[in-house]
Parts: sequence; C-alpha cells; structure tokens
Amino acid sequence: FATPAMATANNKERSFIMIKPDGVQRSLIADIIKRFEQKGYKLIGIKVLVPAKQLAEAHYEEHAQRPFFQKLVSFLSSGAVVAMVWEGQEVIKFSRNMIGATNPLASAPGTIRGDFGVDFGHNVIHGSDSLTSAEREIALWFKSEELAQYDLTMQAWTYE
Ligand code: UDP
Repeated sequence: FATPAMATANNKERSFIMIKPDGVQRSLIADIIKRFEQKGYKLIGIKVLVPAKQLAEAHYEEHAQRPFFQKLVSFLSSGAVVAMVWEGQEVIKFSRNMIGATNPLASAPGTIRGDFGVDFGHNVIHGSDSLTSAEREIALWFKSEELAQYDLTMQAWTYE
C-alpha cells in the first residue's frame, strides 16, 4: 500500500515551463496544463503576465548574439504568457520530450509542438533544458514565496 511518505524521494526536481503568447492566444492553456497534470507532475507555481522587454531579454540572454534575438524578445513581450513551475521526477528532461524539438515541423506527433505548432518562431511553449537553466529561470520569473509547498495525495499512486 502506497503512502504519501513513500513518495518523497526523487520527485523534487523542478522545471520552468512557459506557454508563450501564441499558445495563450490560440487557447492552448488548458490542453498544455492537462498534459503535465496527467503525466503526474505537480504544479507549484503559476501566473499570467505580459513580460517586460527586460524580463524577456534576461530569459533569453544565452541567445543575445543570435540574429533572431530581437524578434524573439519582442515576440515574448508582445502578449500574455503563462509562467509555471512544475515539480516531479526527471521533470526537466521529460518535459523537453513532451514539448518536442525547437522546430515544430521536426517534432513528433504527440509532442506539444508536434501537435500544436508549425513555425520556429511560434512554437507555443518553453521548457528549461538543464538543471542550471531551470534554477536560473525559476529564480528569474518567481519569488520563492510564489512557489507552493504541498502534498498531492495522488502522488502516492504516481510514485512507488
Ligand atoms: N528560435 C527562432 N529561430 C531560431 C532558433 C530559435 O525563432 O533559429 C526561437 C524559438 O522560438 C525557440 C527560442 O528561440 O523556442 C529559443 O531557442 P532554443 O534554441 O533555446 O530552443 P528551445 O529550447 O525553445 O527548444
């Protein structure tokens, strides 16, 4: 019989996941959240905001020298996004699998970009690509008091 206490060992990894302005405008919020919930991950932070240009630039700072940087930053700050933190075992790597490749046309059907996107610049969703990026991005978008610590009783049935 599973108890919540048994479900605490490896499931504390966190990833920063963001539905970009195209995903919000195309009414994909619920469908995307549903996939993470149904996988068994736990939502511990969520907010809707129109990111200031400075925040968008900081988020994508690793691409500052790339030719598409200004367009990318303008796009991200052009409308509302849904910023989230999801928690669970291997959530960083697995959510990248759920999201698919950067180019939606190279993403397998069944992935979020494979199912919902066509174009590089409108690829619906962002997900952290490493532990280092996840920690940096979570700290950039959320204050620690905006992250909820709670148990999901369902977790005892998700994790052995
Ligand atoms: N991007 C783009 N043109 C490119 C490469 C990337 O517009 O040639 C955008 C795309 O929306 C992507 C984002 O820049 O999601 C960040 O690029 P990255 O390589 O980090 O891809 P991701 O981690 O989002 O798959």
